[in-house]
Amino acid sequence: MPYPPGIEPLDLPQWTNRHGNVTQPLRAGASFKLFNLDLPSRTASYNATTANMRWLIGEAQRGRFRLRALGRGWSFSKVNVSEGGLLDTMDLRLSFNLTDAFVDPAFLARGRRSQDLMLVQCGMSVAMLNDRLERAGEERRMLRASGAAHGQSIVGAFSTNTHGGAFRFGAVHDQIVGMHLVVGPDRHVWLERASDPVVNTAFTDRLTGVELLRDDELFNAALVSFGSFGIIHGVLLEGQPIALLEEHRRMGVELNDRTRDLLNTGDWERFPDLVPAPRNAAGATPFHFEVGFNPHQLAENDADKGLFLKVMYRIPYREDYPRIPKDPTFEYGDNTFEVLQRALDILGPRGEHLIPGIVNVLYPLAYKAAEVRTGTMSEHFNSTRVRGRAASLAIGIPAADTARTMELVLALNRERPFAGVTALRYVKGSPATLAFTRFPLTCVLEMDGVDSTGTNTFYRALVQRMDASGRPFTMHWGKVNHMLNEALVHRMFGVDAVDRWCRARTTLLDAEAREVFTNGFLEQCGLHRARTIV
Ligand SMILES: Cc1cc2nc3c(=O)[nH]c(=O)nc-3n(C[C@H](O)[C@H](O)[C@H](O)COP(=O)(O)OP(=O)(O)OC[C@H]3O[C@@H](n4cnc5c(N)ncnc54)[C@H](O)[C@@H]3O)c2cc1C
Repeated sequence: MPYPPGIEPLDLPQWTNRHGNVTQPLRAGASFKLFNLDLPSRTASYNATTANMRWLIGEAQRGRFRLRALGRGWSFSKVNVSEGGLLDTMDLRLSFNLTDAFVDPAFLARGRRSQDLMLVQCGMSVAMLNDRLERAGEERRMLRASGAAHGQSIVGAFSTNTHGGAFRFGAVHDQIVGMHLVVGPDRHVWLERASDPVVNTAFTDRLTGVELLRDDELFNAALVSFGSFGIIHGVLLEGQPIALLEEHRRMGVELNDRTRDLLNTGDWERFPDLVPAPRNAAGATPFHFEVGFNPHQLAENDADKGLFLKVMYRIPYREDYPRIPKDPTFEYGDNTFEVLQRALDILGPRGEHLIPGIVNVLYPLAYKAAEVRTGTMSEHFNSTRVRGRAASLAIGIPAADTARTMELVLALNRERPFAGVTALRYVKGSPATLAFTRFPLTCVLEMDGVDSTGTNTFYRALVQRMDASGRPFTMHWGKVNHMLNEALVHRMFGVDAVDRWCRARTTLLDAEAREVFTNGFLEQCGLHRARTIV
């Protein structure tokens, strides 16, 4: 069959994610790659690609197959696959800077700057985006939040609520202020908040045939929607003027009642004796807060077996800062995780006694002392250190529950040792309807480990205990979450939020389009419904 220029069929009988823990069989003839056409203007190329996205959705409806846009395939869950086909968007990397002529006067009246806005096509990696922002001549800018690494696509990253430790700002999606959604063969919309209009009609007129929708409810639902709201073609992100991040680490912080207070509040400024101060307080603002701990060693009132703290301050940019040296000593993952994973799977429960010793060797390599390090966003959060087969669980809790949750992890770890490393990152709560960083200050408990049967059993047991405790918690949409089901999603996010999300999806996509962008993961979570059934 002839395909329109810009669409290439992919021969993809199955697909495996980056860390090899998800393999999905695919339907023949249902996967495609999109690329921009070389037309006289970038706007014309962008619009031609929108037309191709609409054509593909029509094709999926005619052929009755499911389709899902794929980012970089970094997710550890089945969130990014479909039982039909996948859409490779990685060649779609156009970006457009905005000027005052394209923004709503209300945006400028609120003291914001058009120079901080960039329309980015969905396939651009966060790494490339960082590069375009940070090296843009006179107008150097930076992201407001990033994950720990920057290899994801921008849309892939924010669609699952990727976060760092921006405890006063939020997660990656919280810097998105507008998005271009292709929701059917005959419909594509420019979506932004009614409470925060950003672009004007000079902007939307350039997107041929687009419908302008200003609606907080729809926008907040679409922000964390993991491929279920159609194809997000472009996003408008609001960066900020470039600055540097000054990182301080502190090893061996005793676990005691005071540090539990720090963990439960994230309120560093009350603990100047524990949290390192910036080198120069002038213009420095707290940016990132992270705590590491080794569950096999952590001991009360013992500095040698204590907590690891990492904090970052945002400081004014200058050219002559000492660059962060490359660290060649450790790449966890590589073959380490794979060899471990095989050994542990072969040994089964007999190998469990080996785990603490192995982690005690790995942990100091992952969390170690370092001189104060100063760099840009992309210099701190860059290439991933996790390679090969690996697993990762991330649980969101209200910060006030952190010490209690840590005790739960320690108790479980005494029963069945966890083969990996553990960290806590603090993130400001998000208004996105299904944000897993939904608590006003969310502490994210992260457990990165070997992808073995034992690790998955540990994850499942931890989630069961969290659930049984009756205290609020959520799970990352892009990390290990095979234990999610409809009832659990309701308990985590609330029936009302789930209902609002499903209604928003129904408002934007008609029944035929919803079926195209439904997948098994959505059904497992009960999020495929037009509205919630309780
Ligand atoms: C090494 C590593 C480090 C990580 N670090 C962090 C971290 O620090 N913090 C954190 O929170 N998470 C982290 N993660 C998780 C990761 O950031 C998320 O899983 C993220 O979603 C992956 O982005 P991706 O580009 O690979 O997207 P994918 O995994 O390919 O897709 C993610 C979702 O986005 C959707 N999507 C992609 N493109 C489009 C589009 N154009 N339109 C509509 N939907 C689309 C997909 O359908 C899917 O549902 C890490 C993962 C790895 C492997």
